[in-house]
Amino acid sequence: AERTCAIVKPDGVERLGRIMHAIGETGLAVASLRMAQLTRGDAEAFYGGHVGKPFFGRLVEFMSGGRVVAMELVGPGAVARWRQALGPTDSEQARAEAPESIRAAFGTDGTMNACHGSDSPAAAAEELNFFFGSGSTV
Ligand code: ATP
Repeated sequence: AERTCAIVKPDGVERLGRIMHAIGETGLAVASLRMAQLTRGDAEAFYGGHVGKPFFGRLVEFMSGGRVVAMELVGPGAVARWRQALGPTDSEQARAEAPESIRAAFGTDGTMNACHGSDSPAAAAEELNFFFGSGSTV
């Protein structure tokens, strides 16, 4: 079956119970789970693809500003199914366009949006290695 990497971001951790309930409703199985406190360097490495974007500094500060919960979610079409459950990146847009989505319910704004989801199976493999690989440094 396909797998994806879900992350409950620092703003979502205080609502972890309700987010875990929403994850259960996707039908995906939680195959791995851990908490982590990312350093600035860890967050920069994780979001390396966004270096140079205007929101990069804010994103790194946010992601290293509190603990995150990383998960491996497994099931048919896991990548698309989890991103569908998340809704649009911007929490306000999610509230307007996908009111049942996780970001609509638990996100704050465009950066603090409660959860992350891998955007492809290849990205999922990299991100799961970042948190769960034997060489993980976070
Ligand atoms: P994620 O990768 O976290 O699942 P995503 O794929 O929906 O989210 P990306 O475009 O990969 O969004 O951006 C990564 C993260 O950077 C977003 O989740 C959000 O926290 C932040 N971000 C993205 N775009 C913006 C923006 N225009 N303004 C502020 N923050 C942003």
